[in-house]
Amino acid sequence: MMTNNDELLSQVLARKMELQKWDFHFRRDLYDRELVKLDELNELLDQSGVAEPRDVPDQLLWQATSSGKFSVKSIYNLAFSSHSNHDETFELIWKNVAPPRVKSFGWLAYLGRIKTSEFLLRIGIIQSDEDTLCKFCKKSLESVDHLLYFCKPVWDTWTEILPWWGMQWVPPPTFAGLLHWWKAGIVKSKHKIIWESIPFAVIWTVWDARNQLVF
Ligand SMILES: [Zn+2]
Repeated sequence: MMTNNDELLSQVLARKMELQKWDFHFRRDLYDRELVKLDELNELLDQSGVAEPRDVPDQLLWQATSSGKFSVKSIYNLAFSSHSNHDETFELIWKNVAPPRVKSFGWLAYLGRIKTSEFLLRIGIIQSDEDTLCKFCKKSLESVDHLLYFCKPVWDTWTEILPWWGMQWVPPPTFAGLLHWWKAGIVKSKHKIIWESIPFAVIWTVWDARNQLVF
């Protein structure tokens, strides 16, 4: 988009100091929707603390460690600290008694990134003329929401389990919403571990059954 992609951050910053606004030298006039994005970008940059032009080459720094070097531990800490206040679902998944590979699967499902037909189609691994239907009902596109939540036999499982726990619900519209709802469910504290492991037992079993049909 910019006329000089090799321009250093320090040069862009120097221009900013001179003009008192960000100026990126775009190749063409921006469309209205792009101008909205540009406003957002300007705001982010102003808040980001990039300010002082320095004569050092541009480089990538990992902000989650003081050394600027990437470490797995730092990303784990970052994920926990940034999610724990906002996203209880994150806690439901990662502070769960389910085995690690089941938790990982639950996390990917929550993010919509398990290898359903819909996902493979979206990332171009399979084509739309291939069989993308749910392996159970052969009626709907196999998406995370359909496969792990709305497909009839799976739906029946979820709705069968709730009364065992004296639970009623207004079904959340997505699988991610279901996990969120589950975390908020009030059960006796001594039963909490079991309650919180149920969604993962269900989806792992569903995924296993689905794979047995596929492979
Ligand atoms: Zn189905």
